Amino acid sequence: MNTSTAVASPTTPAASAGSVAATKKPDARWTVSQVEALYQMPLMDLLFRAHQTHRENFDPNEVQRSALLSIKTGGCPEDCSYCTQSARYKTDTGREALMQVEDVVSRAKEAKARGSTRFCMGAAWRGPKEKELEVVTQMIREVKALGLETCVTLGMLKDGQAGKLKEAGLDYYNHNVDTDAEFYDKVITTHKHSDRLDTIAQVRAAGIKVCSGGILGLGESRRNRAAMVAQLANMNPPPDSVPINNLVGMPGTPLAAAEKVDNFEFVRTIAAARITMPKSWVRLSAGRDVMSEEMQAMCFFAGANSIFYCDKLLTASNLDLNADHVLFEKLGLKAI
Ligand code: SF4
Repeated sequence: MNTSTAVASPTTPAASAGSVAATKKPDARWTVSQVEALYQMPLMDLLFRAHQTHRENFDPNEVQRSALLSIKTGGCPEDCSYCTQSARYKTDTGREALMQVEDVVSRAKEAKARGSTRFCMGAAWRGPKEKELEVVTQMIREVKALGLETCVTLGMLKDGQAGKLKEAGLDYYNHNVDTDAEFYDKVITTHKHSDRLDTIAQVRAAGIKVCSGGILGLGESRRNRAAMVAQLANMNPPPDSVPINNLVGMPGTPLAAAEKVDNFEFVRTIAAARITMPKSWVRLSAGRDVMSEEMQAMCFFAGANSIFYCDKLLTASNLDLNADHVLFEKLGLKAI
């Protein structure tokens, strides 16, 4: 049996889990078992299928680069077990108030000069207060005026806030589902997985593109990973941008010593994301700084086509920019 075509085809009302249909119909949904079946494919078959899907939808030699800036750091009331910015954990991350608009704009100019095309701004809040949102909308307007795409991650939104972000010209709102709904309360207790989905729905209703992905290495099982990928893929439509993070265990957080996810399992997740979300940008996110060049190349082959191009990911370290430049040269990748 050729597993590359016989497993993990999405179901439609008229198709069974054993269907051999290779392409996803508009109303098709991925079951968790089908995504799990992708993970179980021989690695070479999985990579081949993922890369084929990638080529059909993107130029495989182009990688989009985004910069990320923490515009308000630390002191967050939430208890996300992986996060160094939670006020509940004793970490080295200090607290910094919301940055001034002009300082953010000057960082955006630097990022643009280095070749980033999207500028992401992250704030460690449960959600923004109205006054804070006003300042962020000013940042969005000014960064957008530089000719950069804009993205923000501000936590949970209240009614009407997504509309204000849209008016300011926001392109993307990042709000990760983080992990499988069934595993969520093992990692976070101060809000529910369904709260994440509510904010994503508000963002989408306002006409803003959705950036949503997850984190590997939280102690989740493969089934949990497959469920997370299936949930993202079954959004209608799937997120425009899907960051896949490999946990950077931060000292002082409950998950500081969490067991690392095997490299091939991480690559399989990238491949599963590419196959199930053929038209989304799949972003190789946190954890890239500890990946070898070969591992990154395998992720690009499996369908990752976006990276953070900056020396810090909010509070976690990232690869230095020169290392990225060298890797792109070696692989013949073109930054877009
Ligand atoms: S992940 Fe976001 S919401 Fe959770 S503690 Fe960190 S900053 Fe707060």
